[in-house]
Amino acid sequence: MHETTTVDAAAGVLARVTGKLLIGGAWVDGENGVIDVADPATGRTIATVADGSVADGLRALDAAVAAQEAWARTPARERSVILRRAWELLQDRAEDFALLMTLEMGKPLAEARGEVAYGGEFLRWFSEEAVRIDGRYTPNPEGTGTMVVTHRPVGPCYLITPWNFPLAMATRKIAPALAAGCTAVVKPATLTPLTTLAFAQLLTDAGLPDGVVNVVTTRSTGALSDAILADPRLRKLSFTGSTPVGVALLKKAADGVLKTSMELGGNAPFVVFEDADLDAAVDGAMLAKFRNIGQACTAANRFIVQDTVADEFVRRISDRVRQLTVGPGTDPGVQIGPLVEPKAVDNAVRLVAEARQHGAEVVTGGAAIPGDGAFFQPTVIDRVGADMSVAVEEIFGPIVAVQRFTTEAEAVALANATEYGLVGYVYTQDTRRGQRMIDLIDTGMMGLNVGVVSNAAGPFGGVKRSGLGREGGAEGIHEYLETKYTLMPTPYA
Ligand code: NAD
Repeated sequence: MHETTTVDAAAGVLARVTGKLLIGGAWVDGENGVIDVADPATGRTIATVADGSVADGLRALDAAVAAQEAWARTPARERSVILRRAWELLQDRAEDFALLMTLEMGKPLAEARGEVAYGGEFLRWFSEEAVRIDGRYTPNPEGTGTMVVTHRPVGPCYLITPWNFPLAMATRKIAPALAAGCTAVVKPATLTPLTTLAFAQLLTDAGLPDGVVNVVTTRSTGALSDAILADPRLRKLSFTGSTPVGVALLKKAADGVLKTSMELGGNAPFVVFEDADLDAAVDGAMLAKFRNIGQACTAANRFIVQDTVADEFVRRISDRVRQLTVGPGTDPGVQIGPLVEPKAVDNAVRLVAEARQHGAEVVTGGAAIPGDGAFFQPTVIDRVGADMSVAVEEIFGPIVAVQRFTTEAEAVALANATEYGLVGYVYTQDTRRGQRMIDLIDTGMMGLNVGVVSNAAGPFGGVKRSGLGREGGAEGIHEYLETKYTLMPTPYA
């Protein structure tokens, strides 16, 4: 019975997504045909979307450029109202969006519903920020002039999103861009384009004028992006994805001296001190590791546990991990869905095999699950070495990898022994130690006795090779604004 309902609901939700490109308010075919979109739980094609050409991409940029001036002049209150309406429509369509994300990406429905709530908050937050873009009017220190500082939209933006949070990564860019008065070309990940297409339709339904947001899906990602980045009319690139691709894009953006925001990879340390509340630490660890099947840039990648409590931590977390229910994200009660594609399973297999070969101990799990879907067993590995691939690379799968330490200084050194610096998690009941960790762990974000930090009101972003700029919070809108300073003579001279 339940199964039939889901199948019907899936057919309905998929039928409502147009698989075309959105350019200048019109849904159009791609010049290069279509791309299949697969359900990672079954490997079956569930939809097709347009395969846009380089020329399609440039037409999308034409549309964004044409719409820029009028959108920048649209009163902030009107921009705010459209974003607010989009948030309201998203609440009405929450179930559709949740199911769509589960179908194209694999995350369990409960988590997909969580992403609708989280992703939606960027619309509500930036609808509130749109009307608070302020400036300064002040005498200069010499008293000879008046200084005026204003903020203006940076101009047409190119927004590239990853597959792991198909809705939230789109709203986290689109909402501040629109609030600031920028137009955009959006390119979702080729694995998960359906949610962005449905969201673009929602924006149209919320009253967004034609051409303000354009969406291109393509298999020619590199060529299409190169052409857009090389066009001098583009003023901003915001990218979320892997560090190697981000670095390559930064180099291309340098030619146009584009304003850039880069949300790149992570390798989060999750440090557990002997003075931690161990129950809370295990709860936090389950969230920090298994949310999104471990496929989050914020996922705890390295569990760094004080040796006096490490055996107990490993025992407790292994018990919890053995109880996780694995299956298609649409099945009720499932906690761990498939990985996004078979390649991701191969990667998890490689990481575990290499760790085992170098002396780590697989406590539970550690293998791919046979069948059509891209499933991997929830896994715990103990006695991981800091130089093993499972500690050095982003795991992006359901694997808890535990390293042990003796002193606080050792914990800090291990936590910082990575090229990444997105987020760190620390569990301790010693407030002074917690304060030291905030200072000493070199990341853009920190969870102190919590396992998830993401919040539309917080500035999300990393240091080192994890990125540039911040999304969300009061900071997020400034990524889409330029500062203009004007000097005029004092009116009193
Ligand atoms: P990816 O780098 O493979 O792809 C990201 C996007 O870039 C996709 O839309 C892809 O089509 C596009 N892309 C790929 N090659 C390109 C090229 N040559 N030119 C232009 N665009 C190109 O990353 P992914 O596998 O989709 O996502 C996972 C990665 O994203 C992980 O490294 C994860 O840590 C990171 N991520 C970071 C954050 C953050 O906020 N820091 C959030 C989510 C994901």
